[in-house]
Amino acid sequence: MSSSTGTSTVVTNIATLVTNDPSLGDNSPLGLVQDAALVIDGDRVVWTGESSKAPATDNRVDAGGRAVLPGFVDSHSHLVFAGDRTQEFNARMSGRSYTAGGIRTTVAATRAASDEALEANLTRYLAEALRQGTTTFETKSGYGLTVADEARALRIAAAHTDEVTYLGAHIVSPDYADDPAGYVALVTGEMLDACAPHARWIDVFCEKGAFDGDQARAILTAGKARGLHPRIHANQLSYGPGVQLAVELDAASADHCTHLTDADVDALASGDTVATLLPGAEFSTRAQWPDARRLLDAGVTVSLSTDCNPGSSFTSSVPFCIALAVRDMGMTPDEAVWSATAGGARALRREDVGRLTPGAYADLTLLDAPSHVHLAYRPGVPLVTGVWRRGVRQV
Ligand SMILES: [Zn+2]
Repeated sequence: MSSSTGTSTVVTNIATLVTNDPSLGDNSPLGLVQDAALVIDGDRVVWTGESSKAPATDNRVDAGGRAVLPGFVDSHSHLVFAGDRTQEFNARMSGRSYTAGGIRTTVAATRAASDEALEANLTRYLAEALRQGTTTFETKSGYGLTVADEARALRIAAAHTDEVTYLGAHIVSPDYADDPAGYVALVTGEMLDACAPHARWIDVFCEKGAFDGDQARAILTAGKARGLHPRIHANQLSYGPGVQLAVELDAASADHCTHLTDADVDALASGDTVATLLPGAEFSTRAQWPDARRLLDAGVTVSLSTDCNPGSSFTSSVPFCIALAVRDMGMTPDEAVWSATAGGARALRREDVGRLTPGAYADLTLLDAPSHVHLAYRPGVPLVTGVWRRGVRQV
């Protein structure tokens, strides 16, 4: 294949290529190809296969006998924020109680920050994530909790990703502490009107102390009526109605899924809602791990993401989450890598990312290792040595 535009590139001498298409590889879910090559033309993948069969191209990159996998799809983060919660984390890890903090700390700092400061913070963490192999990310509002501050957060996020989520229902705004019904009316009314143009998704934190099942249903249903698609923070801290509500409303994803009944697992297995597991949160709060093995054995589609936020999971590292999932949540290395790539794409209902197949975006990560298994085998090691996004090398 020689492109008339001179933009085709073969990445060759790949020891292990993860395509996430069983038919292109070894028939495993990861669709592995050994001694592989991959051809990029423009912003897309146009060919994958064995190195010896690669077509001619304009340019050539030697992967040096290392592994290539799809760029990570981080389907859950909270990156439009200001302020710092180091002391809260330090107190928690030191066994001291800490009452001054929580989401309200971040809300106050975010409201006080300029647009420029919020955007600078966002781009800093996006660059950090990109260096660790993340090429698609979702991010949310939820630290403004006023009409103007929520709309502003979404506008800033939308300049950097298509996967923007309106989370006015993160907690009841402190301004409505005595009137939660009034806050739900705002979230489903004036705030929704201001936010819907900037977002693809609507989310709610369905949990004791945040929003109950009836409130969550009202919020997600109002968002659906405005063309936003639901996703939900569900069953993180306790058992509750969130997961089954997600399946009932055909949410793309139920996120956290730490406390599940058998009926919750059955519901997830019966629908198209992905279970997104966020082990950075359990790590950073010393909480019980979600049981990925139980979900996978029931046939549930599992995604793995960072939940990157300044309070409960301040990591932007998908490789770290993969290592935790393998060590502590019963996932195999292959399953964890699938969940952090193809699983993330499923959680965003995307077909064009999370896989390296002809027609998909050329979003790929080169590891300084011969196999994707090293992501769990060598935890904490900066293995990502090359990242292409939309066919352009970024790292
Ligand atoms: Zn979250």
